[in-house]
Amino acid sequence: MALIVQKYGGTSVGNPDRIKNVAKRVAEYRSRGDQVVVVVSAMSGVTDNLIKLAKEIMSLPSEREMDMLLATGEQQTIALTAIALHNLGVKAVSLTGAQAGIVTDGVHTKAKIHNITPKKVHELLDQGNVVIVAGFQGETREGQITTLGRGGSDLTAIALAAALKADLCQIYTDVDGVYTADPRIVPNAKKLPEISYDEMLELASLGAKVMQSRSVEFAKKFGVVFEVRSSLNENPGTIVKEETKSMEDVVVRGVALDKNQAKVTLIGVPDKPGVAAKVFKALGDATVNVDMIVQNISHGSLQTATNTPTTDISFTTDKADLLKAQKVIDGLKKELGFNDVLTDEKIGKLSIVGVGMKSHTGVAGKMFDVLAKEGVNIGMISTSEIKISVTIDLAKGEAATRAVHAAFIG
Ligand code: ASP
Ligand code: MG
Repeated sequence: MALIVQKYGGTSVGNPDRIKNVAKRVAEYRSRGDQVVVVVSAMSGVTDNLIKLAKEIMSLPSEREMDMLLATGEQQTIALTAIALHNLGVKAVSLTGAQAGIVTDGVHTKAKIHNITPKKVHELLDQGNVVIVAGFQGETREGQITTLGRGGSDLTAIALAAALKADLCQIYTDVDGVYTADPRIVPNAKKLPEISYDEMLELASLGAKVMQSRSVEFAKKFGVVFEVRSSLNENPGTIVKEETKSMEDVVVRGVALDKNQAKVTLIGVPDKPGVAAKVFKALGDATVNVDMIVQNISHGSLQTATNTPTTDISFTTDKADLLKAQKVIDGLKKELGFNDVLTDEKIGKLSIVGVGMKSHTGVAGKMFDVLAKEGVNIGMISTSEIKISVTIDLAKGEAATRAVHAAFIG
């Protein structure tokens, strides 16, 4: 007898028929004698709608009240799922996050799980129930309802799987698993049978948003192996787990194109200690999310007023943050005395990710060669142990993604 945690996202429980389907799947596992804990999200659109309602009343509502409000979305789905199971003659009980023993800190709307005491869950399982737990929510030690940040039901499932020492954790969603690239861009992208936590995290941060990143970090920390798979078919999904030696045989696990970045370049910045610190501290204070940063070496040009050597600094940020970033930079102009600011919204960030890069050489050279043959100019470059990212002309982004995918993956 295995203990299985299954998480169903918003689209998987998006209407009564989908909920009945979920119940059917759960019932099947149950009939094999397995114990099943089901974590559900709010029905798709419900959380967004609740946020909209609140904002129609007040633009900056209290975060405590937002948690009170948003937690109701998941509470609807747990009850509906329990009812769907009862309808199939399966014993089932729904629990809120608090009833399931999920204790969080007090940071409303993005609380962190403090600990889980799943005594009630165990009791109900032992009495032969399927236990259905509301995702995305918990309770502080003082009994305040909290939520775990958007997409937080993933975290509930992973954390419960860890606390219950589950044999299997399945994350059901509306895609078949994790692909080597976005199939809308690369039609022959392949579903990956497995991927390491770190690769999954890199791909998520590159815009391949299959799961909430925090929950993947949590899974890595606690060694929770999980499967991402579709609730709409029976296909096996992608197993996400600790890196194994054989994973390194594959150099590039995935190719991702992020179309959502913009570039800012400061021209003629004084090349002296503390300047970059000022720029990026100010951006951070304004909560501008900075991704890539490149600083040129000074090449002899001097700032005339002060006779200091100058350099150029470029960085990328989300398109949504560009205006905010520009405002911050404009505000520094007097103090730092740079010559000009350029912005470019027509960039794409193309990345390849794979743990195999740790032990293979020539990967960057091959990628740049493919791009050169495609006539694609490289702007900025950044690398980590398992990732190479370049900025390129957005108009050539999709063709470049296909070419790089063909060269490394097929
Ligand atoms: N319902 C929440 C959201 O939409 C949590 C989740 O779906 O995981 O963000
Ligand atoms: Mg969701």
